[in-house]
Amino acid sequence: MAADGLMVAGAGLLGLCFGSFLNVCIVRLPHEQSLLRPPSACPKCRHPIEWRDNIPVVSWLLLKGRCRHCKAPISAQYPIVEAVVGLIWVAAALAYGATIQGLSGALFGTILLGIAITDARHYLIPNEYTWGGLVIGLVLSLWGGVDGFLRAVLGAAVGFALLFVVAQAGRWAFKEEAMGGGDIKMMAMVGTFVGWKGVLLTVFLGALAGSLVFLPLSLKRKRLVPFGVFLAVGAAVAFVAGETITQWYLQFIRGG
Ligand SMILES: [Zn+2]
Repeated sequence: MAADGLMVAGAGLLGLCFGSFLNVCIVRLPHEQSLLRPPSACPKCRHPIEWRDNIPVVSWLLLKGRCRHCKAPISAQYPIVEAVVGLIWVAAALAYGATIQGLSGALFGTILLGIAITDARHYLIPNEYTWGGLVIGLVLSLWGGVDGFLRAVLGAAVGFALLFVVAQAGRWAFKEEAMGGGDIKMMAMVGTFVGWKGVLLTVFLGALAGSLVFLPLSLKRKRLVPFGVFLAVGAAVAFVAGETITQWYLQFIRGG
């Protein structure tokens, strides 16, 4: 029991650190800036941020959300993203224990959060999340042996092909770019984590949530839809409950 608690706490701390790194990704990737250089600095006074002011959540609270030097406000995005990623890692540890599935869930959730925030803000999905996540998904799938790897490759292929067809159809129907290349690459990445059935479920849930939220809005006024946000939600559901939902669905159509 104590060992379990220690493992969950460790996962939470690791999650806070990944959240801190995700903040850097969220701020820099849309502008194609390096993740490593320059080191983090206050955007106002350019004073480099010391390690003691860079402790996830804690530093922001101690500094009351202000720069130590110039007292300029620091966005609440930083502690919030850190805390959310910490919770994702805790949830993965509680649900799957110290297993590859747990690590997959934690990393997948972190990547999906990065995609959702970036797509909502900038209407783009940087390759670092999609190609980077695809590589992570393939590497983790190796723990499932040849079968696991093939499942991941098939998932990626179906995700890529399905979204490619949807994008082409959208372009033909609406005479405009309804879906970006980022969504296509994203679903290839998602496929490595959830397999081809999970891909179908993700797209179904994403399209459903996207239309419920955005159709009423876009009928009034033409606006871009950050479809990646809804795909991210669908993918998270597919990872957590995909098996259960497909089982239920198959029973349902068989009438039993
Ligand atoms: Zn400052």
